[in-house]
Amino acid sequence: MKSPFHIMLIPTLGCPSNCSYCWSSEENSSVMNLETVNDVALWLKDFQKDQVTVTFHGGEPLLAGADFYRKALPLISDELTELRPSFAIQTNLWRMTREIAEIFSEYSIPVGSSIDGPKEINDLQRGEGYFEKTMRGYKIAQESGLSVRFICTFTSYSIEYKKKIFEFFLNNNLVLKLHPALPSMKGDNPNKWALSPELYGELLVYLLDRYLENLGKIEVMNINDLFRCVFTRRGSVCTFVDCMGNTFAIGPEGDIYPCYRFVGMPDFVMGHVRTHPSKEELLASEAGQRMLRFKEYVDKNCQDCTHIRYCRGGCPYNAIALTNGEVKGVDPHCIAYKRAFNEINERLNEEMFGSSSIDMLGAGKGIVEGGRPGIMALMQKIMSG
Ligand code: SF4
Ligand code: SF4
Repeated sequence: MKSPFHIMLIPTLGCPSNCSYCWSSEENSSVMNLETVNDVALWLKDFQKDQVTVTFHGGEPLLAGADFYRKALPLISDELTELRPSFAIQTNLWRMTREIAEIFSEYSIPVGSSIDGPKEINDLQRGEGYFEKTMRGYKIAQESGLSVRFICTFTSYSIEYKKKIFEFFLNNNLVLKLHPALPSMKGDNPNKWALSPELYGELLVYLLDRYLENLGKIEVMNINDLFRCVFTRRGSVCTFVDCMGNTFAIGPEGDIYPCYRFVGMPDFVMGHVRTHPSKEELLASEAGQRMLRFKEYVDKNCQDCTHIRYCRGGCPYNAIALTNGEVKGVDPHCIAYKRAFNEINERLNEEMFGSSSIDMLGAGKGIVEGGRPGIMALMQKIMSG
């Protein structure tokens, strides 16, 4: 099965917020013009024959304004009908208006946003007033029928409040997707907020247990993804597949990068949409070669790991962004991934072949000792969902 093809459009690197641990936003950044959007569509027409997902990302993509989306969406959609484009957006929602929400609802655009838990925790990490501004945008999006999901960034600070944060998502009927804070590329103390791989691993196991206790009442996307990896033996999200060649990002000026996370880093420019580079040409660029060197490194250095098929060394950005593109190791979150994959595999084996397997296959409910749902119950839920 082929990996889905994904284009990330970055209309601007600017952002009205100033989150403490942010690594990507720039103040006073330029905004993509429609000529560049047109170049993107014309380039993709030659570049790609299969279905394409286009995600607007940032910086803060809503800074581009309603007029940008009113024109850019039909432009891409009409030019690329054969590629059956679907759209998505990742935004903090501050600049959401009824006008924009209506445009997005015409194209059934799912919205990804960010909230780090209850107001006091969120605003301490993301800045005073963030929570209210995001919730205001969330309300507008909801009233227009848009589907909104939140990413919750866990930091070295908020990890202490993991119970409170989980309960916030549970009690507000929100889907939980988590993201570990990475070392920041700006400021004097890059590791201040970063979540260590060890703590990230513990957090994943903690959330697995809370998820099992509350099965049917909440979705924890990362746990679903890790499960799908183990059951299907193939990566289920970009972190766990070879993303090089299947994902590209276009910066505000039309430069092509391997992923939105690299946008604004000159060493990672692979080409420009105006010259219509082929996939081979992009991968032959110095930035493309760096991504491929990561893949080779993983093939060699992870070959004895039982999870290599569905982990693929994790995210190349995490591995090479802080070493100026030099491949010195796999994704530092390897420790966390291994911990979570091992935990799922061990519990599966225990429930299938060990002493805790009661009523697992018989009644088909995956209930283990103590009457609580086990890992098989979660597997049934995910695989039937
Ligand atoms: S670089 Fe990382 S975040 Fe970007 S597409 Fe690849 S795995 Fe995903
Ligand atoms: S868990 Fe670690 S060693 Fe195993 S494939 Fe992933 S990155 Fe490599």
